[in-house]
Amino acid sequence: MPTIRIVLATRNTHKFRELAALLRLPGVQWRSLNAVPHAPEVRESGRTFEANAIKKARALADAAGGPALADDSGLEVDALGGAPGVRSARYAGRHGDDLANNAKLLRALRGVPRSKRGAQYRCVLALAVPGRVLGAAHGVWRGRIAESPAGASGFGYDPIFFVPRFCKTAGQLSASVKNRLSHRGQAARRMHRLLARLLKAGKLPQGIQQPPQA
Ligand code: IMP
Repeated sequence: MPTIRIVLATRNTHKFRELAALLRLPGVQWRSLNAVPHAPEVRESGRTFEANAIKKARALADAAGGPALADDSGLEVDALGGAPGVRSARYAGRHGDDLANNAKLLRALRGVPRSKRGAQYRCVLALAVPGRVLGAAHGVWRGRIAESPAGASGFGYDPIFFVPRFCKTAGQLSASVKNRLSHRGQAARRMHRLLARLLKAGKLPQGIQQPPQA
């Protein structure tokens, strides 16, 4: 069986390893963005997670000349009409300032009762080949926003994302439990099924031909 090389649209080693492990398939080699030095910087300007994931996957597939997979994810809070949504990473201003984002969200929900603190993480993974989108997989994880942070695992909003079934925040869950429940885990399992179907049908081109770099 020929090896299919698929590029993952991330330079983040942690995310690369996590997704490559969740999407492990015989005959597929996952490559990080480092394997495509001329990959364009894509602005996440879409109004939905799906639009952003598709935009990134398309641009990367075109640049790589083969299949590419991209994700977009974030947090939607009921009481804020779905905010911060696609702006999750830069809710408080600076991209990726988790502490400031969490503090801002707790301030925005000050005085909001537990029954109205519902929220969900959402993740979309999109798969494209040059000139064409092959599919997108979604995952949604419901929970609620805690009154104060707890736990040091995970990242982003995890210390204030409370999971009632475990009576813990996502920041207090182990990585394996989080993967089982999470928006990203769900989307990855769906994408895994789509990839397996496409591989079986011989519908994935082989992808970038460079020697292994990442
Ligand atoms: P991106 O998908 O890497 O662009 O992430 C968007 C932002 O959403 C992150 O910076 C986090 O603030 C938030 N986010 C997405 N997924 C998670 C998660 O699993 N835990 C905590 N925060 C998350």
